[in-house]
Amino acid sequence: MAGDVTIFAQMSALAVQTGALNLGQGFPDDDGPAEVLEAAQRAIREGVNQYPPGRGMPVLRAAIAEHRQRFWGERLDPETQVLVTAGATEAIAASLLALVGPGDEVLTVEPFYDAYAAVTRLAGATHTTVPLRLVDGRFVLDHDELRAAVTGRTRVVLVNNPNNPTGFQWTREDLAVLVEATERVGATIVSDEVYEHLCFDAEHVPVASLPGAFERTIAIGSAGKTFSVTGWKIGWLTAPADLVNRVLAVKQWLTYVNGAPFQPAVAVGLGLGDDFFTGARDSLRGRRDLLMAALTDGGFDVIRPSAGYFTVADAAPLGITDANRACRELAHQVGVVGIPFPAFCHPDSSMGRSWIRFAHCKDERTLTEAAGRLAAMPHPA
Ligand code: PMP
Ligand code: GLN
Repeated sequence: MAGDVTIFAQMSALAVQTGALNLGQGFPDDDGPAEVLEAAQRAIREGVNQYPPGRGMPVLRAAIAEHRQRFWGERLDPETQVLVTAGATEAIAASLLALVGPGDEVLTVEPFYDAYAAVTRLAGATHTTVPLRLVDGRFVLDHDELRAAVTGRTRVVLVNNPNNPTGFQWTREDLAVLVEATERVGATIVSDEVYEHLCFDAEHVPVASLPGAFERTIAIGSAGKTFSVTGWKIGWLTAPADLVNRVLAVKQWLTYVNGAPFQPAVAVGLGLGDDFFTGARDSLRGRRDLLMAALTDGGFDVIRPSAGYFTVADAAPLGITDANRACRELAHQVGVVGIPFPAFCHPDSSMGRSWIRFAHCKDERTLTEAAGRLAAMPHPA
């Protein structure tokens, strides 16, 4: 791992170098809501420029707690059960470093967001996986496989709901199996829900809302995805006070704190009306549909994502067998950058060798232009 550059940084650099359209790294083209941007500028003008409190500014912690209650019916104490972090990334890293070490296992589904494997390694623990299965064009979790994957050594199950890269959403039944399995072995659930508001086809079910789950769950959110401000790096976690304290003990030595003027701005965002949240979702759903249609026209086999920023498509019908190589060639030859799906799998996994992840969180002009380029790709005879 030492010295490795993330696949997202590699592919963004390739997009810059070749002038290709960047449907790789997951950041939107448009900025977030004007009220939120203005609130950050106001905070800077008004002198909110020094270290905020270690747990985060009270106004943001209160807004996070209110947001969890408004959308997911959860009652939280903002003093003890909420922690503001430097993006979801720090929430994930601090949680794993607090909870696992050598000899412990961290279980995720495969495919998984790249940071999960890297941080598990940093913590000295072992990364285990249970595969998503593609059945009739949809990803599903096999409950027997999930139960069997949670062993006596599993200290944390790191859930990504909705999942990056596939947009797979855990169903209530999947989550019930998970809660029971973690109770059986005394494991903690760390639930990365950064795409919680971007669910197109089914409601989001936060695992902490299931009976018996809150006590063993750390739920993670991020302003980056919800408010299209990925560069602000304001994230948070909510959990029982004892778990928050354990994570805080690590977090204070990572960043200690971050983003003072962005914190009250994110509080403004979390308090926006329902129309903002449904509008952001509906707009992204439209762009997902646009990209899916374009990829289908271009000859890809598209796997419909029910949530999130990304669409996964199989390039095998185009004669492509190695997505790693194809993504580099596509940048030069077609002028579009995607992320090879194997970057989200173990190196020895055979899953999705010819699959590519494309970001649909870009603006319509970029997606339409990319669509034209992909549709003009040479097809096998
Ligand atoms: N988790 C997932 C599943 C993600 O896709 C991302 C980035 N897009 C992150 C965490 C990182 O979030 P942040 O930028 O808030 O650190
Ligand atoms: N989460 C973003 C993605 O999946 C990338 C973030 C990063 O560059 N580390 O594309």
